[in-house]
Amino acid sequence: MNDYLPDDALKLRYVEQKTRETAQLYGYHEVITPLVESYELLAAKAGEEIRHRMYTFNDMANRKIALRAEFTPSIARLVATKMRTMPKPLKLFCAGSLYRYDEPQYGRSREFWQANYELMGTSHPEADAEIITLTSHLLDSIGLHKHYLKIGHVGILRGILNQEGIQETQQNQIMQLLDKKQWDQALTTAQNLKASRLCLKTLKTLIETKGNDTTNILHEIDEAIKNYETAGTAAQNLHEIIELIKNSNIKSEILIEAGFARGLEYYTGMIFEAYVPELERAGLAIGGGGRYDKLIELFGGEPTPAVGVAPGIDRIALAIDKTKTPLKLPDKKHVIVIPLNEEMLAQAYTIASTLRQAGIPTDIELMRRPVSKALSDADRRGLQYSVLIGPEEAKEGKVTLRDMKNREQKTIEKEKLITEIMREK
Ligand code: AMP
Repeated sequence: MNDYLPDDALKLRYVEQKTRETAQLYGYHEVITPLVESYELLAAKAGEEIRHRMYTFNDMANRKIALRAEFTPSIARLVATKMRTMPKPLKLFCAGSLYRYDEPQYGRSREFWQANYELMGTSHPEADAEIITLTSHLLDSIGLHKHYLKIGHVGILRGILNQEGIQETQQNQIMQLLDKKQWDQALTTAQNLKASRLCLKTLKTLIETKGNDTTNILHEIDEAIKNYETAGTAAQNLHEIIELIKNSNIKSEILIEAGFARGLEYYTGMIFEAYVPELERAGLAIGGGGRYDKLIELFGGEPTPAVGVAPGIDRIALAIDKTKTPLKLPDKKHVIVIPLNEEMLAQAYTIASTLRQAGIPTDIELMRRPVSKALSDADRRGLQYSVLIGPEEAKEGKVTLRDMKNREQKTIEKEKLITEIMREK
């Protein structure tokens, strides 16, 4: 679990704010769901990976509950129940902390933050393209311009395995291995499940089919799967999505990987992950998502096709550090008001309060330090201005405004203080 000290908390909230702004820009409405849900709900369709890593316990009424390990089941619950009659498409956003009993290591903790965008009610490729475009736009707005998106399609892999008569639960084993890049084991498992030689050859080719020359890669995929009809429909869907993305002016590099799978079992179509090279080396994605057309039904809702993405807020904050991307924070002018003696305290209070009412972030020297010490502390904390309240100036209704950066100071009338601070850059 994490303690976020001020610098880290600032960064986390900054990224969260960007995810919220992107939600607004694309018309996603925020929902807030509880941190605990019934175990059954959370476990229903998560992969083995996540199911085993949930924080599960019984409450005082002996109900089995768990800390949320992802947002999608909670959203699916909403859509199947309270939001059942809402017009489609339904575009929802949420952000908050998630809990998984992962092995803590660099970039991976048991408590982490995610934003979540879910687009429900349409199976058309433009919805998939919107989710990908939005992810690219978000990363760009944060300044992570050198990110790339790895895209695959579960429908291609499952289409092949279905045609081979391999059951869904057994397919999941293969997908888990592909997700972990254990390609040989994935092929061996398929072989043990009596997949044909053609199937094994096709899977092997797909595993090797990857790259950023999207036109060629898509062509190679078509070639590889020409004996598998439903896989062909899935590949056509991938074509359409990629075509739309190309028209959306996004700056991300696009990498197609035909043998790419993700840990969560509920994906049915396009899947993708976002990376920056600095973290990709450590195997850390900064976001991931895909299409899940069957999940809402599972929670008792109408059949509702859906696609979504979860950018990792902590991971993006880490990527900001690693890529030395500056935070685009609004110019702040933080002021400290320093009374030069105890008699000046009341005036200092009045002035500080006037500044705050004008929206200027303001501290008061609270330690009764001599002015030189108070000024060096203001320096250490990177404040922009000090306002010194001394008895001589006070008699004339004046104060001294000190610019902490260039160390210049001037004595001005109290009434001009706000204009002066606002005017200075
Ligand atoms: P997932 O919910 O597994 O699809 O993950 C989506 C994103 O959440 C990943 O791409 C990461 O950016 C982030 N994420 C997942 N697990 C962790 C973790 N244990 N610690 C930090 N970030 C994580």
